[in-house]
This record gives sequence, C-alpha cells and structure tokens, in this order.
Amino acid sequence: MNRLPVVDERTCIGCAECVEICPTACLAMAGPRPWLPRPRDCTACTACELVCPTQAIEMRDPNPNE
Ligand code: SF4
Ligand code: SF4
Repeated sequence: MNRLPVVDERTCIGCAECVEICPTACLAMAGPRPWLPRPRDCTACTACELVCPTQAIEMRDPNPNE
C-alpha cells in the first residue's frame, strides 16, 4: 500500500489547505483538523504534505497493526 499522510495535531493550524489541494478529495476536515476518510483514494502524490504551511503532514508507511 502507498504511504499515507499523517497529521501532527500539535502543529496543524486547521487552515484546510491540504483538503483543498487534494486531487482525489480523500482528505476532509473533521472540525478543526483534517483526516483521511477515503485512504483508498490517496495516490501518495504528496501535494498535501508540500502545501502545509506548518509541515504538519508527513507521508508514512501505513501501520500494519491498524
Ligand atoms: S498524498 Fe495526495 S492524494 Fe493523498 S491525501 Fe495528500 S493530496 Fe490527497
Ligand atoms: S495544511 Fe497543514 S496546517 Fe493546514 S489543515 Fe492541513 S495539516 Fe493542518
């Protein structure tokens, strides 16, 4: 499986830029923070990671235990 974006809730400022830039609409805001309701649609393009103004998103290998 592709790497997936993981949001650091300590540094995310809730700007939603990652949600807006995602080409496959797999990110969504859940209140003040983004989450990934459709991980199967993520192409690991890294646009969300690159656009984040606080570097709160890191692409990581999916945890096999989750
Ligand atoms: S890596 Fe690309 S496809 Fe995946 S959530 Fe981020 S912007 Fe969307
Ligand atoms: S772009 Fe970064 S700071 Fe903005 S909502 Fe997404 S994770 Fe949070």
